[in-house]
Amino acid sequence: MKENIYTIPVIDTFKEDTECPLCHLYMKLEKESIDFMLGPSYMEDDIRMETNKIGFCSHHYGKMYEEKNRLGLALMLHTHLEEINKNLSKIISSNKDLNSKSSSIFNVFKTGKNNPSTKNENPISSYLNKVYEGCYICNKIDNTFKRYIDTFFYLWKSDESFVSLVSEGKGFCLKHFSLLLEKGSQLLNKNQYTHFTQIVIPIQQKNLKRIEEELDWFIQKFDYRFKDEPWGNSKDAIPRSLLKIASL
Ligand SMILES: [Zn+2]
Ligand SMILES: [Zn+2]
Repeated sequence: MKENIYTIPVIDTFKEDTECPLCHLYMKLEKESIDFMLGPSYMEDDIRMETNKIGFCSHHYGKMYEEKNRLGLALMLHTHLEEINKNLSKIISSNKDLNSKSSSIFNVFKTGKNNPSTKNENPISSYLNKVYEGCYICNKIDNTFKRYIDTFFYLWKSDESFVSLVSEGKGFCLKHFSLLLEKGSQLLNKNQYTHFTQIVIPIQQKNLKRIEEELDWFIQKFDYRFKDEPWGNSKDAIPRSLLKIASL
């Protein structure tokens, strides 16, 4: 097997007992990215320039807030807010008629609902939406995650032991199963894609059914008639279902 910096983490993840190896990879990347952000990286000018510009999504602000480095987070928030205030002032001062009822911008607000093509012309909203939608950590994770997906298909094509590893696994969460079907159609040729779907679709169906049955037994265990019966695999059926269904 040809190894590079991406093949080892992909292979290792598929050796884990998990409802979705790709979620597992994603969570590892996320943890590394949060540690990186709250490590010395936020003092580096080029990184700080980017975080000042786009900031983070609410999910990743929450994750960083759970960590211990309050000063690091405060410094990043402070200069990001400085940049937002500076840009907002610029936009407002270059659109002097923003508050006027007769202004063209007011008309965009009013007519935007019926005319979606003009909806984004409000410069304040379009700037704020860009800030709100951007996330330095999401971008950082996505770049590496894309390479992991390419590596998945590289290994699928070139390494039979990897195909066996995937075949013996528990399938994927819904989001990543869908992603693999889409990416597979782009990265595999026709025969390879047919072979791929013939293997992964039955695995996915079998494992979704398994989770359904494990949840069913979890529910039945609330019935006094079954309270002394063994739990089997159902004790943690809820967290595993959440991972399978919602990548949580
Ligand atoms: Zn997943
Ligand atoms: Zn994010």
